Amino acid sequence: MQETREKNLEQIKERLKIGPEQKIKIVGVTKNRTYEEIERLLNWGLKDLGENRVQELMRKTEWFPRQVSWHYIGHLQRNKVKYVVRIPQLVMVHSVDSLRLAKKISQEAGRVKRKIPILLQVNIAREEQKKGFSNQELREALPAIDSLKNIEVRGLMAMAPFTKDPEETRPFFAGLRELSSEIKEKNWEKINMVELSMGMSQDYQVALEEGATILRLGRILFSDKGGI
Ligand SMILES: *Cc1c(COP(=O)(O)O)cnc(C)c1O
Repeated sequence: MQETREKNLEQIKERLKIGPEQKIKIVGVTKNRTYEEIERLLNWGLKDLGENRVQELMRKTEWFPRQVSWHYIGHLQRNKVKYVVRIPQLVMVHSVDSLRLAKKISQEAGRVKRKIPILLQVNIAREEQKKGFSNQELREALPAIDSLKNIEVRGLMAMAPFTKDPEETRPFFAGLRELSSEIKEKNWEKINMVELSMGMSQDYQVALEEGATILRLGRILFSDKGGI
């Protein structure tokens, strides 16, 4: 079973033209997808799935009660944190975009005696319509975040601006990697910078080259051409 899963995963990587030596986690983004579509992904060996709406996450965790590791990747309102931390299959919140949200997650996680792995979302291109810390806001928030007991900071997450040519996203991904290195140099008590969650269907190759450790892929996994 395990062996088949790994073989299938290798095939997915091959189709995505990701070298077998690349250590990378692929999170299959299931927003707007049907049960059958998601089941196909699971049969292909993907284990990590991502949702960007709390309601949807809760619905879909019931569809697949056991085998999935769920990632929350969308904007999270503080009044919904209590639901998210109670989902047993939740393995990571990628989209922590403010100190207030980080505090709330830590507080609610404490109530259910959990420690929740999180990523800090950075608005790398300073886009109006996107959520996330600016680099400077993040630097200023880190000491407070480091003192929160019930979250485990594992790294950074970002979305690149939409561009016609994915190559144009490179400086933004590189910027996120540099920010991560900068944070790593300080001796934080609890903050770890191991994950870089960056790269979506249209720009994942560039993200990989710039050091992504987690890709969040939606459309490309489901499309007819090259999809699965
Ligand atoms: C939808 C979504 C993705 C996946 O996007 P695709 O272009 O379909 O690969 C990744 N990350 C976030 C936060 C999303 O909302």
